[in-house]
Amino acid sequence: MSTKDIVARCERLFEDLRFGAVKDWKAAAPGRKAIGYMPIYVPREIIHAAGMLPVGIFGGGDQIEVIQGDAYYQSYICRIPRSTLELGLTGRLDVLDGMLFPSICDVIRNLSGMWQIMFKDKYVKYFDLPQNYDDATGGSFYIHEMSALRADLGKLAGKEISDEALRASIAVYNENRKAIRELYAYRAEQPWQAPTSELYLVLRAGCVLPPEAHTALAREYLAAARAETRPRRDNARVVLTGSFCEQPPLGLIKSIEMSGCYVVDDDFQLIQSWLLDDVPAEGDPLAELSKAFLHRSAATSSKYDEKKEDKGKFLLRQIRDRGAEGVVFAAPSFCDPALLERPMLQAILAQHKIPYTAFKYAENTGQMAPIREQAGTFADSIKLWSAA
Ligand code: SF4
Repeated sequence: MSTKDIVARCERLFEDLRFGAVKDWKAAAPGRKAIGYMPIYVPREIIHAAGMLPVGIFGGGDQIEVIQGDAYYQSYICRIPRSTLELGLTGRLDVLDGMLFPSICDVIRNLSGMWQIMFKDKYVKYFDLPQNYDDATGGSFYIHEMSALRADLGKLAGKEISDEALRASIAVYNENRKAIRELYAYRAEQPWQAPTSELYLVLRAGCVLPPEAHTALAREYLAAARAETRPRRDNARVVLTGSFCEQPPLGLIKSIEMSGCYVVDDDFQLIQSWLLDDVPAEGDPLAELSKAFLHRSAATSSKYDEKKEDKGKFLLRQIRDRGAEGVVFAAPSFCDPALLERPMLQAILAQHKIPYTAFKYAENTGQMAPIREQAGTFADSIKLWSAA
């Protein structure tokens, strides 16, 4: 298949807010169950080991009108909890047998409480993540949290989740992460060959496909991209950061690219690249998942930095490793974690003389022209400075 065919398939999955792919997966065998999860990170290995399908829920995007969801939240709150409620209240999430709400911010925590009250027949869990990275403290807390999830899902599946099943699922997700890493490395190397608007759709397909199928899809896209030759432009290479939860509309990603920027790294679907290397598929599976989370995971604003001097290190590494020339801070309006961290990261970039620009969006942002102009001016200024 060509990149065009693969991307068209991914776009159909992305636009289907009735989750037909999940329905099809469930219908293919009796008793199958699907568990939704919100950004940023949950250990999908535990859901997979229970024989269930992990389903990423990233709000309603720009395709649904939020009517009922607005009644539950004040106006100065980001849009993702409202559009997620809208998805739930309109029956679009009926296909899910449960929902996980990771501890990313107060909004998601409150949403988990609302979900428990509103969808009493479903399994709902607020999944707490450690903010202490000592194995004996944060590690034992996290293993306890994962054990509770393991027991709950085992009960829901009618069968305990064995260590063997967990190890097998760890191996499956290692392959998936490897395929994503390869895709990201290729995009950074030759961004004109794998535009971010396409790569994004390939990643989003991982929200509804089983990991084995998604790994195959990511590899198929990579092979197709390598086989094609596309025009190379003199664009500015940028890291896009702050978009880890509520997602920008696809049109906004395209606008940034059309303005003259090559996005060479991002934090859109952080769950797929959260763990930075393979999790050992031998030994105690929960202990290994815990160690990977505590010591070898991505940094983001909803994760505590133990030492002040660690702030910004991850972003600086992204810039260096991907050969970026600047940073685009793109965060959802009213996103406390992203917007509170932004000035600290900007100060660090200023110290290192790395140019940046910043704006806010909502998942249903309609006006792309101002963002395109801003990103275009930023790309031009990078090109002018680098030519000086
Ligand atoms: S967009 Fe930001 S504030 Fe809103 S739910 Fe996500 S992390 Fe929380």
